[in-house]
Amino acid sequence: MNCKFCNAEMESSTTGICWECLLKAGYENTMKQNIKSKEWFVENIGERVYRDSDDCECATCRDVVKNGLIIANEEHVEYLYMIQGDYFAEGIFLNYRNKK
Ligand SMILES: [Zn+2]
Ligand SMILES: [Zn+2]
Repeated sequence: MNCKFCNAEMESSTTGICWECLLKAGYENTMKQNIKSKEWFVENIGERVYRDSDDCECATCRDVVKNGLIIANEEHVEYLYMIQGDYFAEGIFLNYRNKK
């Protein structure tokens, strides 16, 4: 049989979806669930938050990955929320969170 999504040939499976597509779907769901809402950023104004590396080696980014950053105000929220979406669109998941 062939995978419903990518059409790759595979051994028969109950889902009709190959392992590669299943893994990819699971990964994308995990990422979507962990994308932070704008409300989350607003709730965390004044708090220190952490994120994963965006693969940028500049001093600012290295410092943020190491020490986190404090969300200053609503404008900062807009900025962080926008950046999160831009990176996500490029397949980079920043994984904003309260604990390191
Ligand atoms: Zn597939
Ligand atoms: Zn940077």
